[in-house]
Amino acid sequence: MKIPLVDLKRQYQSIKEEIDSAMSEIIENTSFILGKPVEEFEQNFAKFCNAKYAVGVGNGTDALKLALECMGLSKGDEVLAPTHTFFATVEPVVQLGAKPVLVDADETFNIDVNQIEKKITPKTKAIIPVHIYGRPAEMQVINEIAEKHNLLVLEDCCQSHGAEYKGKRVPISTAGAFSFFPGKNIGAFGDGGAIVTNDSEIYDKAKMLRNHGRSNKFQSDFIGYNSRLDALQAAILDVKLKHLEEWTDMRIKNAKIYTELLQDSEVVVPASDANCKSVFHLYVVRVKNRDRIINKLKEQGIGAGIHYPEPLHTQNALKYLIDTKQKFPVAEKICSEIVSLPMFPELKKEEIEFVCDTLLDATKR
Ligand SMILES: *Cc1c(COP(=O)(O)O)cnc(C)c1O
Repeated sequence: MKIPLVDLKRQYQSIKEEIDSAMSEIIENTSFILGKPVEEFEQNFAKFCNAKYAVGVGNGTDALKLALECMGLSKGDEVLAPTHTFFATVEPVVQLGAKPVLVDADETFNIDVNQIEKKITPKTKAIIPVHIYGRPAEMQVINEIAEKHNLLVLEDCCQSHGAEYKGKRVPISTAGAFSFFPGKNIGAFGDGGAIVTNDSEIYDKAKMLRNHGRSNKFQSDFIGYNSRLDALQAAILDVKLKHLEEWTDMRIKNAKIYTELLQDSEVVVPASDANCKSVFHLYVVRVKNRDRIINKLKEQGIGAGIHYPEPLHTQNALKYLIDTKQKFPVAEKICSEIVSLPMFPELKKEEIEFVCDTLLDATKR
């Protein structure tokens, strides 16, 4: 049975008419940059996050970068971030002349909050928790540490649209950065991203920063970027947003089926926590002999993946910044054992059963 890791075609087929008509409206109007479609999506997305403001930008990486800049990150600052995440979590930190200081993961795959304080120095300015795979990081502890040491908190929400921590939707601290890369829980037909915040100063600055620092059409007050969310993408995202709650429920239901079928086996299923509502951007299990098992899954047509095989502290681009004496034993073990199983809302029960049968069979030999 051929089961991809993510199947975006099924989703498009289910909402084709709505999407096509939203797209042709933009094309007919030829209003491609900012304007009403972007504003409407921003308002609706902010509402979805239970936040006051959203600012649409070019992609999730820029959302992180512009948010950090708005929050006042500057050259020479140190920023704490997990080593077990996608490269783009810290790339903007380096672009802004600051230094990422990496922290090991714990068994939830998220940043180990017990390792954070020992990495704080007088230069530490901010912390970027990542809600990896859609599961919120331990935000109460993180916010307490941040408050005690006067640190900024920017949440990397690129995998966690609609995730909740203690009943509150992320971001629950100062600001969050979202990605609308096509394969994310809500995906554009290309790149897109957003900064979400309740802080009106961050909001005002981000709106200018994404648009050449302009205060009006012909006046730039500071050096900014060209990083706007396209109107066409905003219109597509606004259609998809109406379905996002339902799609999240479908992901959670799929995860539940996986967990039920795998929990009494050698396969380690994602840790659950009553405080955290995960939106299962990915469903990631841990196995021994991972590479052999991935090959077995692939032989049967199952699109298994690894997110991510290399932690940040072993990335070539970051090596010169990372203290080689620092050890990240948990993240390294995770990287050697993880398998991402097919996960998307439209995944069928029979498909999940086939994946689990194949996986359990592979672990037995
Ligand atoms: C996708 C992702 C990003 C970057 O988003 P882009 O839209 O691809 O720039 C950053 N952090 C994490 C954790 C991501 O998953």
